[in-house]
Amino acid sequence: MTEFATYQTQGEIAIISMDKPPINGLGAALREGIGSGLNKAFSDPSIQAVVLIGTPRAFSGGADITEFGTPKATHEPTLRTIIETMEASPKPIVAAISGFCLGGGLEFALGCHFRVALPDATLGLPEVKLGILPGGGGTQRLPRLLGFEKAVEMIVGGLHIPAIKFKDTLLLDQIVEGDLLQAAIAFARKVVAQGEPLKRVRDRTVPDIPTDAVLAEKRKAVVAAAKRFPAPVSCFDSVCASFKSATFDAGLLEERRLITELFKSPESLALRYTFAAERAAAKIPGLPEDIALRTIKKVGVIGAGTMGGGITMNFISAGLPVVLLETKQEALDKGLATIGKNYETSMKKGKLTQAQYDACMALITPTLSYQDFGDVDLIIEAVFENMDVKEQVFKTLDGIAKPGAILASNTSALNIDEIAAFTKRPQDVLGLHFFSPANVMRLLEVVRGAKTAPDVLATCMTLARKIKKIAVVSGVCDGFIGNRMLAQYRTAANELMHQGAMPQQIDGALQAFGLVMGPFRMADLAGLDIGWAGRKRRAAASPTPVAPIVADWICEAGRYGQKTGAGWYRYEAGKRDPIPDPIVEEMIAKYRQEHGIKSRKIEDSEIIERCMFALVNEGARILEERIAARASDIDIVYLNGYGFPAHVGGPMHYANAVGLPKVVQRLKDFAAEPGADPNWQPAPLLVRLVERGVGFN
Ligand code: NAD
Repeated sequence: MTEFATYQTQGEIAIISMDKPPINGLGAALREGIGSGLNKAFSDPSIQAVVLIGTPRAFSGGADITEFGTPKATHEPTLRTIIETMEASPKPIVAAISGFCLGGGLEFALGCHFRVALPDATLGLPEVKLGILPGGGGTQRLPRLLGFEKAVEMIVGGLHIPAIKFKDTLLLDQIVEGDLLQAAIAFARKVVAQGEPLKRVRDRTVPDIPTDAVLAEKRKAVVAAAKRFPAPVSCFDSVCASFKSATFDAGLLEERRLITELFKSPESLALRYTFAAERAAAKIPGLPEDIALRTIKKVGVIGAGTMGGGITMNFISAGLPVVLLETKQEALDKGLATIGKNYETSMKKGKLTQAQYDACMALITPTLSYQDFGDVDLIIEAVFENMDVKEQVFKTLDGIAKPGAILASNTSALNIDEIAAFTKRPQDVLGLHFFSPANVMRLLEVVRGAKTAPDVLATCMTLARKIKKIAVVSGVCDGFIGNRMLAQYRTAANELMHQGAMPQQIDGALQAFGLVMGPFRMADLAGLDIGWAGRKRRAAASPTPVAPIVADWICEAGRYGQKTGAGWYRYEAGKRDPIPDPIVEEMIAKYRQEHGIKSRKIEDSEIIERCMFALVNEGARILEERIAARASDIDIVYLNGYGFPAHVGGPMHYANAVGLPKVVQRLKDFAAEPGADPNWQPAPLLVRLVERGVGFN
């Protein structure tokens, strides 16, 4: 029929099979194939029923998001047209559901007269996560089958639910085991034989219409939980239209009105951008998609400290054995105990069973000897951030690791090429920069050295998915993508503080903007000594003397953040709430006095501009130097590693939304101030993009 949909018959049953990798996205080509299959079945008098089936991986993962906003999205037959055609069909249509059945995929199944599913198929209408709502009738049909309460829970929450949970509901007519296609055909034959009336969801009524008072209460809760996002509220309102509207078609019109509004919202634009950006980050320019990967069956981790422990957890949680090496038994025991405690917390929360805990812990081989690394496929170093220590580790590894083993460093900022040069196999060396806490944070910067082999890079990108990380490739530079930009952001925050804002005002402004944590709270959490070490390293390398700043004084006073009970804020024992501290305010006042700075009142809007545009400007330099392949890769780093708000979509997307001419103008304003940091000069790439009248793409 077409490339993605095939048409076959088994006696009086027509079978339309969808096979568009990876998950049967309902793009124009697949829709066309389904449409022509349906026409064929309708026009063949020998056909009495139709079965629609996908692949084991997916019935359908939903609309093809890359078509959003393009002419292809409205190319006939649209999803709505197909659903209407199926629902109106005089011949029964059975959806045979396996794997993902999400979004438009589930709406599509709801247009069928009957649905049979494998118990482990995953059903859901997750559109809310893209800042929109199910616009193919999902908000009208689902409540008619599951009731208002359940539909709201599923649509507003964007939940993915296993099919087995819908046993004995009207959503699924049958849960089947084994051969799905044969079961669906048998079901279709039974329907035909028994002359069962066709079940059109649109003809049903919502079974549990709530009172106005209940409705008002529930809406209030949704509004409160949604915070600034409009989508959950519109999802709720659209579900309500399923029983408030005079007719089913009027409800559909209301659904369409609401989704049209949502499509225009900046939040939805940012969320859809992020969705596409995540997928783009996995593609490495110049790397063949079918490149042969190295086999990773066993992993080694060096250093069982903060990062080594978390890194180990990622692999054992994914079922990969880890050899964990330390220099002293005491450090090894401490590291293992921390891993154990972390898993115990998960057990207490009911996220892990005792058996899973035991299985994970059994996958660790603790050791004090490099000899145990002989058969390991990937070794990740997470020792102190000191080039001499790294040199000793990599030289030892070079002598012991098997040929072809991948050697990785978790360094936050050190030069990967220099580290690779400690070995005779620089092609096998790269950076795997996890973020703290490494077992929680989703971001992984994969640092490609000048000599890193393509298959090493590709293997690590694939491995990242296995351990549930979002990987972004970075080139080699001080701090890679994330920390290099962060240094400029922190400089901007420090400047604001020196000039008149207190840490709590700066943090408050950025948190109101949407960041999980402002820069001072984040520094207190990460440990101020890390940034201090970096500043000292850069100061030592600077040709001109670098004067200490308040951040240095704080560290000199032994205030390293939460871990020492005080940093930019003070902390009460066992608590993490930041309490503004007069000692810090005194230090800031002293700094202003010593530098002849007259404190000025700073608006929150200026705080946002300076901190954000500092990030954008450095991001543009990173792009120009090809440290990052795409602006969207930078955004993925910030969204997943630095608590950047999803509805803003990352700093580069934010810059596009604000408009690059404004960004450049403000940077020029800041650069023109007396004594301004030269880094405020707009990056040449930014200036060129403005001249060409385009944004980051
Ligand atoms: P840490 O001090 O908590 O742990 C380092 C561990 O390495 C210690 O347990 C130490 O005993 C062990 N170690 C030191 N020398 C060793 C050697 N020669 N052989 C074996 N073990 C040795 O430090 P950390 O915070 O886990 O940082 C480790 C690395 O990860 C550093 O390069 C750091 O820059 C990087 N990193 C840290 C963070 C973070 O937020 N802490 C984030 C990303 C990356």
